[in-house]
Amino acid sequence: MLEKDFYVEQIKKLKKEKNAVILAHNYERPEIQDVADLVGDSLGLSQEASKTDASIIVFCGVHFMAETAKIISPNKKVLLPDVDAGCSLADSITIEQLRIWKKENPNAVVVSYVNTTAEIKSESDYCCTSSNAVEVVRAIPTNKDILFLPDRYLGNYAAAVTRREINVWNGSCHVHEKIGDINLNYAKRKYPNAEILVHPECSCSSSCIHKSALFKDCKNTKIFSTSGMVNYVKKSDASEFIIATETGIIHQLKKVAPEKKYRPVSKDSICEYMKLTTLEKLYNSLQKEVFEVVVPETIAKKAIIPIKRMLEIC
Ligand code: SF4
Repeated sequence: MLEKDFYVEQIKKLKKEKNAVILAHNYERPEIQDVADLVGDSLGLSQEASKTDASIIVFCGVHFMAETAKIISPNKKVLLPDVDAGCSLADSITIEQLRIWKKENPNAVVVSYVNTTAEIKSESDYCCTSSNAVEVVRAIPTNKDILFLPDRYLGNYAAAVTRREINVWNGSCHVHEKIGDINLNYAKRKYPNAEILVHPECSCSSSCIHKSALFKDCKNTKIFSTSGMVNYVKKSDASEFIIATETGIIHQLKKVAPEKKYRPVSKDSICEYMKLTTLEKLYNSLQKEVFEVVVPETIAKKAIIPIKRMLEIC
């Protein structure tokens, strides 16, 4: 038996025995996506997992995603197969920096992107995703100052669309930094008939969203969530798509519309944190029930509030 088949078989067996649900973010390795019960975006996965009767959630993603799953499902055990799976965007701001920023702006409302630690969420007023950031900002009274963190592209985009002055934290994700004007324009010239699909819920695409909103020549650009993107390629007449996000999503797109062509804006748009999880690590995680992600109750109780406020708006 091949090593891969062995792990897949064992993972499926252990999953049943332990009543576990396996979540995989769209940017995980193809073999991880294939063995998962649910594949999608971080918040959607956490919400879906909370509806299951599983006692264990194995989150094949990065640390802040597993924390969000724990916040939403406090009674389930949440495991992260690789303890080093971090996020450069979530690391863009520390709790100490946020406290200083809040002190300097005592009356401001804090809007945090979901790609933040539980601690940052616990001291925020609202959470948001890339797809609902504009709606969340619009829901805040215009006489209130806003501190938006940590992604500067998403913050500037929300400011441009809502025409509000927003204090934006100067953070970014190292992956989407690579998806810049040069790559996008090059891809558009190379594939002039392709539609451009931008994923709205991951910070990796936020610079593209910002550019799409401001560039006059972006008529052919569509902004979708992952599921929207997956549904769209199935029904679109186009046979070719430029994909402006982490390249892992292409695995899902090929599954639903294998006859079409997908051109990543940049082949380098690969998140090394997302690729840390392997079948062997997932197997190990299920077998030994490691690495458990714990969010202190005091923080979890506060961190759920901005998430709930966001869900009430959107
Ligand atoms: S792609 Fe960027 S935002 Fe997403 S997990 Fe990786 S570092 Fe974080």
